[in-house]
Amino acid sequence: MPARLTSPSSAPVRQSSVRAHNLALVLHTVANSTDRPSRAAVAAITGLTRATVSALVDDLVAGGLLTEVEPPPRTGAGRPAVGLAVSAAGPAGLGLEINVDYLAACVVDLTGTVRQRFAEHADQRPADPGQALTMLGRLAARARLAAEADGLIVAGAALAVPGLVADDGLVRVAPNLGWQDVDAPALLGAVPELADLPITVDNEANLAALGELRVTGGDPTFLYVSGEVGIGAGLVLGGELYRGVRGWSGEIGHVTVFPDGRPCRCGARGCLEQYAGQEALAGDEPLAAAALGIALSAVVNLLDVPVIVLGGAYAPLFATLRPGIEEELARRVLTSGMAPVVLRPATLGPDAAMRGAADTVIRAVRDDPAAWLRR
Ligand SMILES: [Zn+2]
Repeated sequence: MPARLTSPSSAPVRQSSVRAHNLALVLHTVANSTDRPSRAAVAAITGLTRATVSALVDDLVAGGLLTEVEPPPRTGAGRPAVGLAVSAAGPAGLGLEINVDYLAACVVDLTGTVRQRFAEHADQRPADPGQALTMLGRLAARARLAAEADGLIVAGAALAVPGLVADDGLVRVAPNLGWQDVDAPALLGAVPELADLPITVDNEANLAALGELRVTGGDPTFLYVSGEVGIGAGLVLGGELYRGVRGWSGEIGHVTVFPDGRPCRCGARGCLEQYAGQEALAGDEPLAAAALGIALSAVVNLLDVPVIVLGGAYAPLFATLRPGIEEELARRVLTSGMAPVVLRPATLGPDAAMRGAADTVIRAVRDDPAAWLRR
């Protein structure tokens, strides 16, 4: 019966997986509500019985995922029902970032609020990966302790790195940090205060794009471009991050803008990074804007992406860079006369990658609350 093997919907559903599904459904329903719905309202929205919703809500409240809130005072007959909200005192995500010139850690609670934020500016390039990740681990431990003193439980950590990351968290290459095949989860996990945490690793532009997607909740399709010493991009198509077959997409910093141009760390010539990376940007903003415009025109012509979000070092310089980028887009994008590309600065500013990292931890809890309750 091959159909049964390939189609989960036709397989017998176990009672425990029904409960897991319904727990997630109830949690999402409360999280996505603009008001604070009662149990009866959640039952009406989900189509579950009131008794089922009540039992699920009890479990979610006991597990620190939901909280009961007093109803607003109401005039008229009848006692208003107790409302439900996502708990700000339960599981939280630890978001970490390592970049060429800084280390940062933040803790974000289940409602998406940043509860702790620590950052240290230091040039990481002379440090070996072990030293750099130990420093970051100590910063992360401080953030975790402060969050836990504040009543939160850190459910996991996610690290943003400016490089190519394999599925198991191995950083294959991070050219601007000088890293190759660095087992980042193991090195971070060697810091005693983090030893018990699940740790994942992803590319910083990917995580920044995800952070931007969650916060704005607006554009489902956009290219996020992160300007640091290197330049990364995260492509979000229809609300989903496109990672490429091996997870290595988004290396816009090595798109050629001037074929016979400056030599690049990657071995090629004329890469965008050599003209619009942070160091080049500090020297010649008009050239950086033009180079960005040339590279972005190629992306838009190829993929029909309607929105480009400029993050990292580009966000505070948005007003300065915009005219030069738009000039190239207008000149080079075939459809620019019919539908000009929307260019905007990142909403989260320089914290986007770290926030996106913390968000992946929170999402995992929100998508599978049963796993959190079983822990
Ligand atoms: Zn290059």
